[in-house]
Amino acid sequence: MASTAAVARKLSFEDARARVMGAAPALAARLGVERVLLAEAVGRVLAEPLVAHQALPLFDNSAVDGYAVRTADVAAASEANPVRLAVLERVAAGAMPRKSVGAGQAILVMTGAPLPAGADAVLMRERTDEGDTEVRALAAARAGENVRPSGEDARQGETVVALGTEIGPGEIAALAALGHGLAAVVTRPRVAVLSTGDELVDPGETIGPGEIYDSNSHAMRAAIAASGAEPGEVWRVRDDPKVVAGALLSLLEAHDVVLSLGGVSMGDFDPVKLALAEIPGVEWWRVGMRPGGPQAFGALAEGRVFYGLPGNPVSSSVVFDRLARPLLRSAMGIASPDRPMVRATLTEEVRSALGRRDFVRVRLSGAPGAWRAALTGSQSSGAVTSLARADGLGIVPESADTVAAGSEIDVILWRMPT
Ligand code: AMP
Ligand code: MG
Repeated sequence: MASTAAVARKLSFEDARARVMGAAPALAARLGVERVLLAEAVGRVLAEPLVAHQALPLFDNSAVDGYAVRTADVAAASEANPVRLAVLERVAAGAMPRKSVGAGQAILVMTGAPLPAGADAVLMRERTDEGDTEVRALAAARAGENVRPSGEDARQGETVVALGTEIGPGEIAALAALGHGLAAVVTRPRVAVLSTGDELVDPGETIGPGEIYDSNSHAMRAAIAASGAEPGEVWRVRDDPKVVAGALLSLLEAHDVVLSLGGVSMGDFDPVKLALAEIPGVEWWRVGMRPGGPQAFGALAEGRVFYGLPGNPVSSSVVFDRLARPLLRSAMGIASPDRPMVRATLTEEVRSALGRRDFVRVRLSGAPGAWRAALTGSQSSGAVTSLARADGLGIVPESADTVAAGSEIDVILWRMPT
């Protein structure tokens, strides 16, 4: 079996990115549309544009508690010259006015109450003596003052939220305001994780000599969920190529995407590398990036994807973030599937190598427009805590082997610094 391991193909980061993103259309074709309750819609991707099937608001209504009046009646009103109006009734939000406002008349309306016929403005209570059956207007009103006209928020037929938008609280508000109890969302790619390594023990279990806690599979599950995809099975297997191959095949049957962790580098016992031969269409890559150069990738039959990520915790996190995450998000139809970037001034020199794109973990300080980026300590690909400390990834391009302190770099923003 060992002799069947593929030869690594050397790829630039951009070539790897293009190949990975090239798998998005076939993966997207596996995804469908489902309708979910608004309570479950946050973080999902809208599968159909949200079009206002009715005007919003549906009817003219009052923006304040006040008196619905005819502006002509109160044109000359002031503190010194109050205008008396007969108050016909009082209308709460949710009720309908029974009368219309004629000359010399007013209706007391609460915020959200429909604007009574005949009225063309609402005079705030504070600009009156707040009378019950008769009110004195102490100020004039402009036509339309304190009225929320029908269609002000959205016209009938207007697209309110574009297809491919990730649903947040604002989109939920718009869906609910238009009366939708369900949101049409893209089904999420189901992503399995296969962690490999004889040395790995689950956190919470007792650790033996030479063993370490499996941090990657937990980090990966979290990264999958945070990307908007659906975490599927998370398995951990021993470094036995036969077991790895069997696990990969059964996970592939039940998932859209399988991510393996570890076992793809040059080590003698790298089981994923040895198992690759069992899965047609998978290639072994050496990508010109750091961390995370050794990878395995396959755009498989029926749009399924296999991605073999390196075992070092930082490598797997960075490769997921830079390559797998945009693939998953692009397949879900998100228009800009990658993270935002900012420019920042490096506080210290960073060394790289020509022809390689380095991603360095940085902490940002300063303010928008004047960010400063400091390394989060050791850039070893095993240094897990540097992930927890990072606000993002600084990019050292292929064209540079050293970036001097004080230089400006691009930083991929994971979060705003606190
Ligand atoms: P590998 O690519 O399997 O040779 O792993 C490279 C390094 O990453 C080794 O030091 C492994 O112990 C470590 N490693 C692999 N998988 C994990 C994991 N799931 N959690 C934490 N460390 C891991
Ligand atoms: Mg390993």
